[in-house]
Formats: sequence, structure tokens, C-alpha cells
Amino acid sequence: MTGDRVARVVVVGGGIAGVSTAGALRAGGFDGDLTLVDPGEFPYDRPPLSKDFLSGAKNIGQLALQSSRWYDDQRVRLLNRTAVTALRPREGKVELADGTLLPADRVVLATGGGAARPPVPGLDSERVHVLRTATDADRLRPQLTPGARVLVVGAGLIGSEAASTAVRLGCEVTLVDPLATPLVSVLGTELAGWLHDLHTWHHVTTAQTTVEALTDRGGHIEARLAGRTGLRSYDVVVLGVGMVANTELAERAGLETDRGIVVDTGQVTSNPAVLAVGDPARTRHDGVLLPRTEHWEAAQHDGARAAATILGAPAPAPTVPWFWTDRHGRHIEAVGHMADAERTVLRGSCDDPAFTVFGLRGGHVVAAASVDDSAAVRAARRMIDRRVPADAGRLSDPAVNPRALLRTAPDGERTG
Ligand SMILES: Cc1cc2nc3c(=O)[nH]c(=O)nc-3n(C[C@H](O)[C@H](O)[C@H](O)COP(=O)(O)OP(=O)(O)OC[C@H]3O[C@@H](n4cnc5c(N)ncnc54)[C@H](O)[C@@H]3O)c2cc1C
Repeated sequence: MTGDRVARVVVVGGGIAGVSTAGALRAGGFDGDLTLVDPGEFPYDRPPLSKDFLSGAKNIGQLALQSSRWYDDQRVRLLNRTAVTALRPREGKVELADGTLLPADRVVLATGGGAARPPVPGLDSERVHVLRTATDADRLRPQLTPGARVLVVGAGLIGSEAASTAVRLGCEVTLVDPLATPLVSVLGTELAGWLHDLHTWHHVTTAQTTVEALTDRGGHIEARLAGRTGLRSYDVVVLGVGMVANTELAERAGLETDRGIVVDTGQVTSNPAVLAVGDPARTRHDGVLLPRTEHWEAAQHDGARAAATILGAPAPAPTVPWFWTDRHGRHIEAVGHMADAERTVLRGSCDDPAFTVFGLRGGHVVAAASVDDSAAVRAARRMIDRRVPADAGRLSDPAVNPRALLRTAPDGERTG
């Protein structure tokens, strides 16, 4: 898989990272053979799995990342319903499940991850569910009937969305997490606290605890919760306690892994012919291994960077991380690194229909998180990328149009 001329690229995994890599390669002028391998029927998007796809409002066809025509137009050979089972970097090949060997000058690992499973006895019960694939959501949906008692373990992004969807479908939902206020490090104290309270206002019972053991009793499942006496009965358990990166192919090929596939800032692994993108990729920057970024947009950006590396093109301009999440009918977006903020400024009030928390450090915005206020987060992103000096008074004033925040001096522009 070495040599300068790249004529054949195999992308392993058809999530947003893999499909973005293929699209960016063609957009950047790659004219060689391009193959995308994925075990599914067609590449589909993950975020709706805990939202509209779980509720039944969207079907699998509506989750397709691209139309079948796109693959033809882009000359992307889609090998669906199969998987890459081994990388053979020295031979310049990858092996498929049926033993077929595909020649590849470069391989892009876009293999995503699986649901983390804590060491809790009883997780093998059929009543225990995870949410990583459309099959997982299809299996869970029929259980979310009105009145079903649902225990959601983990109040991070996916657990909270699953709880929100389940309660909307009429289930009695209990959401447990060891943290009093989950997501503080990414959303800041005010917004994280408000968001967690939102569960209670929507009749989700929240509890600060962990599950110690589950016992399937046939008609129901019993949970022992830490610090609580007695056992509680549920019909369904949903685990949302994080993701484990799919590193197996990389490990077996002798690539460096460390709770992720280690890559440089151009997405190149410890083997120059193999790149990794999306959820499993873990970047080493200036000698420091950064945490994995398990978000949709970051996976897309990885794909663009990998394509630039393969094409020998300039890397796309770096940008700060951004993600969104939806729960109980509210749309939340966050940008930047809230943990880096020295102080926060609230635009509006948590009682307003829309509000934003800006995180500041040394006179600059370093992060923002909003509820139903995408424009403020867009403005914050530009302020962070362009290092626009921040004026706390204007940031906190909901009457100031978010676009006006990008100008250093107030100019009287108002939202209303
Ligand atoms: C339920 C859910 C809700 C989410 N909601 C949000 C949200 O609201 N906002 C947000 O920003 N992010 C959200 N995310 C995260 C976001 O979806 C992921 O960060 C994104 O999907 C990562 O894309 P990926 O391509 O790296 O991995 P994936 O989407 O996991 O795709 C990996 C693909 O690789 C395939 N694969 C694995 N091994 C092989 C192999 N050996 N051969 C061939 N193919 C293989 C897998 O089958 C899979 O199709 C959510 C994730 C989930 C699961």
C-alpha cells in the first residue's frame, strides 16, 4: 500500500466519516478507483436513531446518507452487505468477509464504534438494549409502548435522547446517571443543569445512581441501583453509557491504537498507507493524544482532511468542534471547549424560549451552548475561529443580533 501514486482507495465503513471521505476525494479531483465497504444495506445516518427513527417518525430510507444515484455519479463502488475482515498493508490489499482481496494503495478506516457495556451482571438479557445501529433501534421501538417501564442507564447525549423519545411515546421513564448534572464539561453549569431539569419537567424520573445488577425475571427485569434499598422492576433497559471505538482491524494490522486508532493531524495512522476517520480516530497533536470526538460534524471534517492528505492538497482550515442534540422538543447546539472557559455569560435567561451560554477566556469566546438559538452558536463559532474580542455586555444582551457580535464595536444592530 505504499508508493506515491494513489490509484486505488478503499474506504472501510459507510457512516458519515466514510461517505464524507469518498465525497471529498472526488470533489478534490481524485480520479482513481474508489471503493466503499459497509455491512449495511446502504450507508445511513446515525443521529436519528435515538430521535425520529426510534419514534417511528422517519423510516430507514429517510436516513440514507446519499442516494444510489450519487454513488454512480461519483463513481464510488459501494460494496454493501460485506465487511473488511483484514488489512494487509504490506501486500497493498484488504480482505473481505468472503475472502476476496481488494487492491488498495490507501485504506481509510471509518469503522465507527460499538456501544460500551459496563461490567454489570445481567446485561445479556433480551430486555437490555443499546442504540448504535438501525437494527438496535428497530429492536427497541416495539418495546416503547404506552405505559412500558423503561430504565435508561446514562444521561449523556444518547441516553437523554432515548429517554425523551420514550416518554414522548408514553413510556414511564427512569433515567439514572452517577453525575448530579451530566454534560457540565461540554455545556457549562447553567445549561447542563437546565437541560437535566428538563427531563423532570417532561415526567422523566431522574436519579443520581448507577445500576449494580440486572436480573431478568421473564416478564420483567429487576434492577439493583447503588445506594437504594430494594429492587425495581422495568420492562426495558436502554444502555447509553458511551462508545467503544472499533479498533480491531487496526490492531490486527499492527497499527498504533490507544482507545482509538491513533492518527496524526492529517488522519494518517502509524502506517502511512492507512488513514482513520470519524468516531474511532484519535489524534496526536504536538505529542499529545487528544480525546476522540464522537460527533457527526467532526466525522465529516475528518473525511475532508483524509481526502486532502491522500490528494496531497492543503488541509482544510481547522475549526472548533460543534455538535447538536435534541430532547423534549428543544434543540441544543454547542461549539468550542466549555471546559477551557474561565467564566460564562448568559444571553437571555433560562426561562426564555431561546438562550445561550458563552464561555469566555482572556477576553475571547472559547465556547458557546444554546437552546433553540442556532444563530448565536454560529456567531460564537466565527468569533472563536477569527479570535474576535468579546464584549460581555453585548454577549449577554438578547436584543443584540448575533451577527453584530462579530463586529468588535457595537453598531446598534438589534434583533427586533
Ligand atoms: C443514536 C445516536 C445518536 C447520535 N446523535 C448525534 C447528534 O445528535 N449530534 C451529533 O453531533 N452526533 C450524534 N451522534 C454521533 C454521530 O452519529 C457519530 O459521531 C457519527 O455517526 C460517526 O460517524 P462514523 O462514520 O465515524 O461512524 P459510524 O456512523 O458508526 O459508521 C461506521 C460504519 O462502519 C461500518 N463498519 C464497521 N466495521 C467495518 C468493517 N470491518 N468493514 C466494513 N464496514 C465496517 C459500520 O457498520 C458502520 O456502518 C449520534 C450517534 C448515535 C449512535
